[in-house]
Amino acid sequence: MVKVLDTVGDGGAVRPRHPEKAGRPDTPVLRKPDWIRVKAPGSPVYGETRRIVKENKLHTVCEEASCPNIGECWSKRHATMMIMGDTCTRACAFCNVRTGLPNALDGAEPGRVAEAVAALGLNHVVITSVDRDDLDDGGAAHFAATIAAIRNAAPDTTIEILPPDFLRKDGALEVVVAAKPDVFNHNLETVPSLYLKIRPGARYFHSLRLLQRVKELDPAMFTKSGLMVGLGETREDVLQVMDDMRSANIDFLTIGQYLQPTRKHAEVKGFVTPEEFKAYETTAYAKGFLLVSATPLTRSSHHAGEDFARLRAARDKQLRAGAAR
Ligand code: SF4
Repeated sequence: MVKVLDTVGDGGAVRPRHPEKAGRPDTPVLRKPDWIRVKAPGSPVYGETRRIVKENKLHTVCEEASCPNIGECWSKRHATMMIMGDTCTRACAFCNVRTGLPNALDGAEPGRVAEAVAALGLNHVVITSVDRDDLDDGGAAHFAATIAAIRNAAPDTTIEILPPDFLRKDGALEVVVAAKPDVFNHNLETVPSLYLKIRPGARYFHSLRLLQRVKELDPAMFTKSGLMVGLGETREDVLQVMDDMRSANIDFLTIGQYLQPTRKHAEVKGFVTPEEFKAYETTAYAKGFLLVSATPLTRSSHHAGEDFARLRAARDKQLRAGAAR
């Protein structure tokens, strides 16, 4: 059952989670096919993960974006932390993170994130954030501080970041790359022809160029990007984005089915079958990606730890093959 519109409680007052969407007409809702099946939350480890997140007063994209994989991921202690608050300055048509004017940054947050990562005993952590167009550096220094705090508290944990696009924030990307995360992940989300409708505050070329620039700044850093399908794009559109991503030297591609959080969000135009996902995966490997994850429930941070090990192994194999030639 898809909700009409989510609400949030602000000190007792209830307000729409997405005020900018409240006046929109309800979108039609397609019935989910049998292949969209998720594990219900509730294992003891799920509860323990929840406790650590709450005790450290952290936000997670798993909860804020109503991710369907939360039961599975949290049962493996894999929570994706969302830093810089719970309120986003953009208003993407697909996203369930609340929108509005955010609070000031919390300078103690990097330390609390690091404590939670150490308490969860993670081999690999994914850190994402809301967009902070209100900040001069888009939050780049806060990202760098969070990476440094995790390195200090959990030196063996590998770090994947999923930052905003830093549109019109000159110098921000350089600050984040200099902090040396292991993986720089930024999702293109959809094909260029749907940007105005689905991701109106972003620019396709800018996001692509951001990822290309990461490789120019640090060729050893892994880059990763993802697409949602089922928003009305064609197969040719997706193949073109794959080519664009390879031109930007992106290593790892994720593709998953878009699911609409509420009836005020963009509608699902179609469900891509598991066989079509498999065909995307095969084509993407043929185009030269080091790693591809393309299934209905693939999300950018789903299985990120296991995938990071596979990514490293794939690069090592490629380097060995190059040396043998
Ligand atoms: S797929 Fe990512 S966002 Fe979803 S529950 Fe897992 S870690 Fe959280």
